[in-house]
Amino acid sequence: MKAFRAAILDFIHDPSVSSATQSYRYFEDGLLLVEQGRVVACADYASLSAQLRDAIEVVDYRGRLIMPGFIDTHLHYAQTDIIASHGEQLLDWLERYTFPMEDRFSDSAVARETADFFIQELLRNGTTSALVFATVHVQSVDAVFEAALAQGMRLISGKVMMDRNAPDYLCDSAQQSYDDSRALIEKWHGHERLLYAVTPRFAPTSSERQLHLAQQLLNEFPDVYLQSHVAENKSEVEWVKSLFPWSRSYLDVYDHFGLLGDRSLYAHCIYLDDDDRHRLVSSGTSVAFCPSSNLFLGSGLFDMQAARDHGLMLSLGSDVGAGSSFSLLRTAADGYRVCQLGGFNLSPLQAFYLLTLGAARALYLEHELGNFEVGKEADFVVIDWQPTPLMRRRMARSESLEDRLFVLMLLGDERNILATHILGECRYRREP
Ligand SMILES: [Zn+2]
Repeated sequence: MKAFRAAILDFIHDPSVSSATQSYRYFEDGLLLVEQGRVVACADYASLSAQLRDAIEVVDYRGRLIMPGFIDTHLHYAQTDIIASHGEQLLDWLERYTFPMEDRFSDSAVARETADFFIQELLRNGTTSALVFATVHVQSVDAVFEAALAQGMRLISGKVMMDRNAPDYLCDSAQQSYDDSRALIEKWHGHERLLYAVTPRFAPTSSERQLHLAQQLLNEFPDVYLQSHVAENKSEVEWVKSLFPWSRSYLDVYDHFGLLGDRSLYAHCIYLDDDDRHRLVSSGTSVAFCPSSNLFLGSGLFDMQAARDHGLMLSLGSDVGAGSSFSLLRTAADGYRVCQLGGFNLSPLQAFYLLTLGAARALYLEHELGNFEVGKEADFVVIDWQPTPLMRRRMARSESLEDRLFVLMLLGDERNILATHILGECRYRREP
């Protein structure tokens, strides 16, 4: 048994649906008990301390905040090295930066070295789980799963399927993508905490045959994930219309091939209409809102009001490398700004819900992750409220938990991450 003493915050309901104050639990002086990687108890120190046996050492994080680990539902590990590359919008960004970089991942040594850095960077930012794009190369998937496995992380990833409208050196064939994905599912899906996602990059780079085979994989392995992109950029939307002239909308292409449903998650979802939103909800499909990436590539503004009105299952994605930070605090801050431009006021409770329990729900992993209910996997982050002089000064004026969370969200970044624990084990500790 391990015990951790700190202020503790987690969510039990969606604050946009239930009353804000009933959506979370907050223990000013809390205690989190963990045994064999799972939560045994979480409550006030005063009420739980009697249960502490003498032999148990209490890790003292008083003055800090423990929250469930952050969950990033959309990013590309092979784009780590093109973060902050200047000047392009989506389609040119892919041509100029992404495809040449992803080509390098045919080399296992490049894949392994980058995957190790990437996983460390997640931990440095308090991200304990993620839904990650690899590249078309089988070895790129092996590399990121091996790196996550070494840290005991719950990670979902998959081989990009891409058989047209990309450089030859990056294209597979429909059959090859099916065979490779199948072998990777059998190798990795359900191995320790790892899960597989069938990963067509986006509709323009897949033939109809490839999309059909993606569906076949979902049928053969009903509990694997599907991840892709939809309706990110106006030129992209026009392109999809010309490639699939029979489709009602971009989302309809995926729907036609049976790629919506439980455990399907689409990044961006900017240029949707109400029929699309209705289909996302009725099919159980989830959405990754990627504000940093959408601003960086000038893609457009996600309509949070419409998403809320329809009850979309939402989460937040950094979308590195088009997103400019691994920090989900900075991503949430960009999310706040994007929502403001759409006349929607994103509350800090709502944002932290999306980074924890909301993301776990979007990934259909609520039974394992997202808060400190008894029996869940004990992935958590220890937050330093005020690592900088400005944050110290601003926090000193703060009189409510919600205000402190908002300051954390707007001014915070990896400097606020004091430690990151996976299954109770400390896997990252900030240098003093
Ligand atoms: Zn992406």
